[in-house]
Amino acid sequence: HDAAPSSPTRHSWDTDTDTSLNSSSRANAAFVILARNSDVWEILDSIRGIEDRFNRRYHYPYVFLNDQPFSDEFKRHTSGIASGPCSYGLVPKEHWEEPDWIDEDKAAVERQKMADNKVIYGDSRTYRRMCRYQSGWFFRHPLLAQYDYYWRIEPSVKFFCDIDYDPFVYMRDHGKKYGWTISLYEYEATIPTLWDVTKEFTAAHPEYLASPNSLSWISSDNGTTYNRCHFWSNFEIGALDFLRSEAYVEYFAHLDRSGGFSYERWGDAPVHSIAAALFLKPEEVHWFHDIGYRHPPFQHCPKDSASRCGCNPQDSNNFGTDAERSLQGDSGRCGAL
Ligand code: GDP
Ligand code: MN
Repeated sequence: HDAAPSSPTRHSWDTDTDTSLNSSSRANAAFVILARNSDVWEILDSIRGIEDRFNRRYHYPYVFLNDQPFSDEFKRHTSGIASGPCSYGLVPKEHWEEPDWIDEDKAAVERQKMADNKVIYGDSRTYRRMCRYQSGWFFRHPLLAQYDYYWRIEPSVKFFCDIDYDPFVYMRDHGKKYGWTISLYEYEATIPTLWDVTKEFTAAHPEYLASPNSLSWISSDNGTTYNRCHFWSNFEIGALDFLRSEAYVEYFAHLDRSGGFSYERWGDAPVHSIAAALFLKPEEVHWFHDIGYRHPPFQHCPKDSASRCGCNPQDSNNFGTDAERSLQGDSGRCGAL
């Protein structure tokens, strides 16, 4: 069902330097957007923003993924606004639905308990499928096979600042494997056994641990417990070879077999973050502190380039909820990296 990329839409107002014409200065990269057809307007808002701030000068391609066939309306509007080629992929059922070892009755009981405890998305099976897909499968979609780097975009996100360099090229030229903007504490109720299952894996496979690594960022007691720090994964710029690595793929398979994506509500954010902390060297993880970014209800507004950003540097991770208040400082960091 996957459609071939459409040709990039070039507009008469694209008068900036066209970096796409110089292939050696470009990375082999794409935006990746998992979305429902009903997300189309909020996705357009996000694409408009990343185009205006960055991509209208670079024309990187977009890969859209969906567990349902994309509607003509979705394709028409998104390809109309994107300045790079767009391709639209269907997620195969085997990558989206629960694996056969999941006990559906047990999963339904656990969802109900979580809903009774008012955990956000606690009752949702599709949200769990989405988290599992983002954790273990999106990077194996055939439409991503040709790329080395991805930049995840979600509905209704904002980019506050001009991005006047190429973050993909930055990742490539500096050996970065995982890039983030905001970090938070995960809700305890969604991951009761995630750390124990992770420890089973690292005990069986100590050879996958990077040396040095960032264990101290995710654990304040040298690995006994997880401190729930994670990179907020609605923004990610990553190297696909990290997610495709044996360490990551085996780690995901181990997590998946335990059933926590269904019986609990493991998010792709803590999964990616724990993997980045354990399997990458600290210098391979990059904080894009210069990228002003908002995904409601949190944001990061750079302090060091405020004049080019349409946001208040004081309003950086500084509003609202419990998770927000638990942030350390105003730097977008959860604990000290
Ligand atoms: P939140 O940011 O955690 O509140 O979750 P979102 O609703 O933003 O979902 C995360 C991403 O997955 C977004 O890009 C959504 O468009 C996408 N998404 C969520 N649920 C589904 C689903 O059931 N099907 C598809 N195709 N995409 C989904
Ligand atoms: Mn979102």
